[in-house]
Amino acid sequence: MQKIALTPQDHVFVLTGAGISAESGIPTFRGVNGLWEKYRIEELASPHAFDRDPALVWRFYSWRRSVAKSCCPNAAHVALAGFQKRLGERFFICTQNVDSLHEQAGATQVVHMHGKLFESRCERRNCNTASFADGTEYPGDKLPQCECGGRIRPNICWFGETPHHMDTVMAALARCSVFVSIGTSGVVEPAASFVAFAQQGKSKPVRTIYVGPEEPANVHMFTDFLKGKATEVVPRLLGSWK
Ligand code: NAD
Ligand code: ZN
Repeated sequence: MQKIALTPQDHVFVLTGAGISAESGIPTFRGVNGLWEKYRIEELASPHAFDRDPALVWRFYSWRRSVAKSCCPNAAHVALAGFQKRLGERFFICTQNVDSLHEQAGATQVVHMHGKLFESRCERRNCNTASFADGTEYPGDKLPQCECGGRIRPNICWFGETPHHMDTVMAALARCSVFVSIGTSGVVEPAASFVAFAQQGKSKPVRTIYVGPEEPANVHMFTDFLKGKATEVVPRLLGSWK
């Protein structure tokens, strides 16, 4: 692997996707083991799905909670957390993952653009109740309700909904000089366009690196494609950065 030196002025933006958690035992959506029962993901993770069959959606998220509870961070999560300690404010991490493996590895200020698996909230946007920590696995026949009468739903950004914290993410993309994407297929927007946003309006070229076992759909946008599993490539890549 080509050694990449960071200068004290560099700001690193890291984007992670389902692939970084795959080796921890959390299935990706598109991998061979990525399907749940016979459903397509859009039939489980959308406001329409929740309106049509909230019990099915809660069964899916209860299953995901139970899987995630038994999983531990892997060497890639650990390497990123260590890298954050070395770089401090010059490091920004945004994940599409809803699991908490980055935090379990010791990372802080992780921006979860697609929400958090272990949080729930009222479905009514005008309800005053804040989102809350929730690891409950709900049986299909007894679904949680808010005091206001609205239904409680997972605090997840579903298909067709706006990703969370986009202002913070766009500001970090504007200041980064190095962009690293790990284990994401480059299909789901807006995350798939972050690599382009990172390069826009910069006076110096931005180094853009992808890490994963296969080419993402947007591979042509990257200056470097480091082929391999996250646990093998990420510790080596970050360990060589000072
Ligand atoms: P994806 O399922 O579309 O793609 C996963 C990517 O990971 C693929 O490109 C694959 O080549 C790569 N990959 C597989 N094994 C890998 C490994 N060992 N190391 C590195 N890369 C590996 O996932 P996505 O692009 O993140 O987007 C799909 C959506 O799925 C996101 O919105 C995300 O919220 C959601 N999701 C999250 C989780 C989680 O929280 N862990 C799990 C599944 C899906
Ligand atoms: Zn409410």
